[in-house]
Amino acid sequence: METVMNRQLFLVEARIKTFKNWPFNDKNKCNVKNMAEAGFYSVATGDDDADAAKCFLCGKELDGWEANDDPWQEHKSHAAKCAFVQLGRKEDELLLSEYLSVIKQYMINEIKQVGELSKEHIDEKAKHVRRKYLSKK
Ligand SMILES: [Zn+2]
Repeated sequence: METVMNRQLFLVEARIKTFKNWPFNDKNKCNVKNMAEAGFYSVATGDDDADAAKCFLCGKELDGWEANDDPWQEHKSHAAKCAFVQLGRKEDELLLSEYLSVIKQYMINEIKQVGELSKEHIDEKAKHVRRKYLSKK
């Protein structure tokens, strides 16, 4: 399992690196840099979902991007409550205190996710044990 800190998706550079097969080039408004600056990282698993992207903070996943889409606008219209959207600026334009609050929220979300995954894992194990026990009766 990836740990909270080594993904560092609260850094725009880390998000940029996730876009390996992005369908648009730098001339398009919907380019990798603008995507990453608006909080998105790629969650593509292959050619079929090459444009699947997710917000590092609110977790909103979007695909079906078009060359002229403005990533900030799309983020805003699909996840208006996202704390990053509400700040509305890229990281290097944020105040340190604002940026720290973003990182804090990111870490809280990640830890919650890890917690949920572990819970699923434990539930699965419990089911297995229960089945084993019942089959012996
Ligand atoms: Zn968001």
